[in-house]
Amino acid sequence: MYVVTGATGHLGTLAVGALLDKVPAEQVAVVVRNEAKAADLAARGVSVRVADYDSPEALAGAFRAGERVLFVSGSDAGRRIPQHTAVVAAAEAAGVGLLAYTGVLGGPKADFRLADDHKATEEAILASGLPYSFLRNGWYHENYTQNLAPVLEHGVVLGSAGEGRIASASRADYAAAAVAVLTGEGHEGTAYELSGDTAWSLAEYAAELSRQTGREIRYASVTAEEHLAVLTGAGVPEPFAAILVDVDTAGIARGLLAGTSGDLARLVGRPTTPLADAVAAALNPS
Ligand code: NDP
Repeated sequence: MYVVTGATGHLGTLAVGALLDKVPAEQVAVVVRNEAKAADLAARGVSVRVADYDSPEALAGAFRAGERVLFVSGSDAGRRIPQHTAVVAAAEAAGVGLLAYTGVLGGPKADFRLADDHKATEEAILASGLPYSFLRNGWYHENYTQNLAPVLEHGVVLGSAGEGRIASASRADYAAAAVAVLTGEGHEGTAYELSGDTAWSLAEYAAELSRQTGREIRYASVTAEEHLAVLTGAGVPEPFAAILVDVDTAGIARGLLAGTSGDLARLVGRPTTPLADAVAAALNPS
């Protein structure tokens, strides 16, 4: 049995879709916190198990011995260490056959704030003794392309990443890699550094937007303080805005999200999706 947690989120939805292209629905279970969001999956014959990462009691029923589990990290930065520790404990108690975890590019070498929870989770998984695979995901194209409205309105890509480069790939690429690991053989004890084939700078991203829109869009390289002020001024809560600025200044500017190991392309058996394709899809939604 293949099990996907976070299955009703963006990445999880794509992963379950890719999994159902490969194996029958009777071999797929999802762990979700909101059963209603998984109604379409239940209708397709997927087993739906309800458990919040905040509830060790509910998680106790989430996994079975021998199952191959894709553990999609939670979205609640700041709460993820206790949440993820509880998921790992439940997987350990059940004796799952593989725990594939979506961490962050660089693993323990990623020392920006958003990476802390992933580091702690990888440590908990190692301590559990379970067969594991670390899917260390780089950035999604969609982190940028799904937030185009203010960029197009002002004609500005704003960031505090300097000339740092980002080897992003599409969420669908990362989902395909996760499914390759889940359904493939020989992935126990692995750590994949997953990222796009090509790294780009925010200035190059602005140039690509200019090319595709026919309008001049420039990169405004600002200081951390200026970036924080813009984000909070736009309504982003201060603690989260500070984490985003830290990604730019402590992560991207220092090259920590620029690695192009080729692991992602190798796992999916094709080149990763170019950033230009994600820009085109965002500008011309079907
Ligand atoms: P989403 O926010 O779309 O999905 C997160 C999933 O986790 C959702 O299914 C959500 O459930 C589930 N979840 C969150 N909290 C809990 C909880 N307490 N109990 C059970 N389930 C929970 O993010 P993405 O799919 O885009 O990304 C997946 C993960 O990757 C993120 O959660 C984050 O850790 C990380 N990430 C990576 C990025 C990158 O660029 N590499 C960018 C952003 C995030 P529900 O559907 O009910 O909301």
